[in-house]
Parts: sequence; C-alpha cells; structure tokens
Amino acid sequence: MNRPLKVDYTPISGVSKEQGVTHAKKTCDKLAPGLNIAPDLLHLDDDAQTRLLFALTLFDRNLGLLPPGFDNAQAVKRLLRWTLKSKALPGDPDQRFEREALSVSGLVKVLLLDGLRPLSSKDVLEVGKIYNPARVSTGTGTVRTVPPLKIDLLRADLFSGLEQVIDGQLDYFQPGKGQKLQRVPMDSLRQLATVVQDYMKFQCGSFPMGNPDSPLFTGYDLSKRIESTESVQITDDFLMSYVMNRAIGVGYGPEHNELFTRSNFDGTRDDSALYDLMQQFLGRPGIRGKVGRCIQLTGSHSGDGTIRLNPVIPPSTSQSTNTWRWDMLRTMIHEFLHHLSHPGFNAKAQKIGHGQIIDEGFVDMITAIVFRQLVGEITKKPDLTGRFLPLQGPILPPPTWQLKTQYGEAGQGADKITKVVGQDRAYAAFFLGSTQHAGLK
Ligand SMILES: [Zn+2]
Repeated sequence: MNRPLKVDYTPISGVSKEQGVTHAKKTCDKLAPGLNIAPDLLHLDDDAQTRLLFALTLFDRNLGLLPPGFDNAQAVKRLLRWTLKSKALPGDPDQRFEREALSVSGLVKVLLLDGLRPLSSKDVLEVGKIYNPARVSTGTGTVRTVPPLKIDLLRADLFSGLEQVIDGQLDYFQPGKGQKLQRVPMDSLRQLATVVQDYMKFQCGSFPMGNPDSPLFTGYDLSKRIESTESVQITDDFLMSYVMNRAIGVGYGPEHNELFTRSNFDGTRDDSALYDLMQQFLGRPGIRGKVGRCIQLTGSHSGDGTIRLNPVIPPSTSQSTNTWRWDMLRTMIHEFLHHLSHPGFNAKAQKIGHGQIIDEGFVDMITAIVFRQLVGEITKKPDLTGRFLPLQGPILPPPTWQLKTQYGEAGQGADKITKVVGQDRAYAAFFLGSTQHAGLK
C-alpha cells in the first residue's frame, strides 16, 4: 500500500452535532445515489452517528484511489453495519479508527491487491507440484496418471500409524501414580485472548484487517468465545474430522515412510476412500472412546468462531510449564487464524491433492510468524505475561520448535509455497481470498 491515504476532515469541521445526520445523508447521496440510508440513521446512537459521519467523509476524500466501477453502495452498507458494532472513534491512537473505517469500506483490500504483481506461470507450476504431490504436471498441461490406490497397504499401515498417534497423545497427558493433573484457569486464557485479538487486528500489517467482511468488524470478541476442550460435545462429525485430520498427517509424514506415496494415494481422487477407511477405523473396539479423549485434549475451532483450548497441563517432566504457557498462546493464535481465514481460500482445499496445506499448513505458517512477533512483545512486558497464564515457574523464552511452522508435511508445504510466492501474496490469498496470488485457480 504505497499510495498516500488522506486523513482530512475539513469538509465537516464546521458541522454541529445536530447537523451530523443530515450531513452524513448528504455525503451518502453523493457517494451512492439512490441508496436510502434514512431509516438506518434512526437507529444510530451518538457515537455511531459520529463514526458514520467521519467514516463517510474519510471514504469520500480517498475515492480517487479506487478503480472505476468500485461498488460505493456496498461500501456504505458495510460502513453502516460496522458503525453499530465498532467501538472505534475518531481520535483513537495509531489511527485505529481510520484504519478500521477504510478497511471496512473495501478500499484497503483494493490497494493491497493493487500492490501485488500476478504470480509468474513458472511459479504457478512450481507451487502446483506442492499442492498436488501425487499428480506431477509435465509443464505442457498434461498430468501424470496416478496408478490405482493400494487400499490394503493403506489400511494396514494407516490404522497402525493412527493408533500410535492416538496412544502417544493419551500417554502424554497420563498422570503418574498419585499425581494430579493441573489446569490453567479459563479466565486467564480469556485475558490472553483480548491481547491476541488486539494484536492481530492492529499490529500484524494491513492484511488481517484488509478483508472488509472480516469477523474483526462484526463485534466478534475472542475472549467471549473461548471454551474448554473438556466440555466439548463428542459427536460423530467431530470424531470423523479428528481422525481424517490425523490420517492425512500420518499419510504424508516421513515417520510413516511416505505411506500415501507408497500406496498411490491421490487426495483429489481418493478422498472418499479415505473417509470409508476412517469409518472402519472408528468402528474398531475401543477407538471411539480413545479418540473422544484426544479431542478433549486438543485445541479446536468451529465455524461460528468458538475456540476451544485444552487447559490441562501435561504431567510429563519433559514438557516444562514454561513450554506449556507458550503453547497456550500459540494454540490460541492458530485457532483464531482459522476464524480469520477467507472462505474463498478455505474452499480451495477441496480442489487440490494435499488439502491440508490449505486447511492447516497456511494457518500454522502464519501462526508461527504472529507467535514470533507476539513473544517479542510480551517478553518486553513482564507484568503482562504474569497476568495471564499465571503458572508457577520463571518465564523463559519458548523452545525453538514453537517458533517454526508445525503440522508436518502440510506446514512444510505452506512454508515452501510462501518461499516461492512471498509473504504478501500468501497473506492476500489467506486473508483476502485472492487465491490466484498463491497459485490457486
Ligand atoms: Zn488447525
């Protein structure tokens, strides 16, 4: 975003409070002739009126930056909705009001995308190989045909690999004899959520807020949406999505000797075969109970923005309290990013062979970036760190693995793609849904 934005309120400098509504209506008539906002204005309190008047003026003063054909009426409608939900006001520090208003109008998105060059066809080809590991394009548009799926091999090795993963997780949280599991108070996690949401909104560059339809503008409050994984309702869908997620990790993981490659698994072709296998897996004796317990120990999110965090501190001595404290923060960022990801980007997971790169890899790649920044901020403010996650023991730097992208091959895939396309293009795809910038049609 290199073009200068005008923050200039001189057109309304002489407007009294009483004249504010009339003036907002006049500005709206100029911006979007025919759009009648008069009925909406009746519902606005004083702060919302101020917000609307200043936001419309700001938008109007920056119209010159927008391309012809930009939908002003949609921008005004979004701003109207936002005035009812936002707490921002003109004069807020760091131009927070202006940044929110211009983001909601859609102007920031236009400028961000305008500043990015399209991806070269060479780079599209290169990232295409990462998205579709089983299908190698020859460069002339033809794609290697993947041999038939070796279902018996896949079933045997996948089931044993999954059992290892599940038992490993349960062991990790198994208390020793006479040992009691410790829990982090949920309220301290909610305090942390306020810091995370504010940071993500205002201190991670323009992309997270660049989506005019972002939940960040609808009054979403992360601190009110945090729940404990221990209270989660275990449904069939939940069990299935947990085992599907882990199956993909096992299938692509080097620790299982490239199982998907060995068994000719192609995500664009064999998704339903994998689903059937997972139904068989869940039908094995004792598995549903074990998977249910794993779900209650694993951070997760749902489409409505509910974020579940595991408050249980693992008893293992290898996992220090310090590591766990940072893991809470890292998981919160990860689950929150799921909620901020653009629906248009998420939809692409169905279209590629290794959909988990989109479902989880990009999420964790950005998680690691935000986590590194936030750790730097937090360690500068010990009072802040002490207030949330009030665990015993000194606050030491997080272990190195937490600073890097996790999620196995899916995370590494996202890292490789970001290296090719650059962080701005990856963010444009993830937050703004401009998927072609990440090499996705
Ligand atoms: Zn996730």
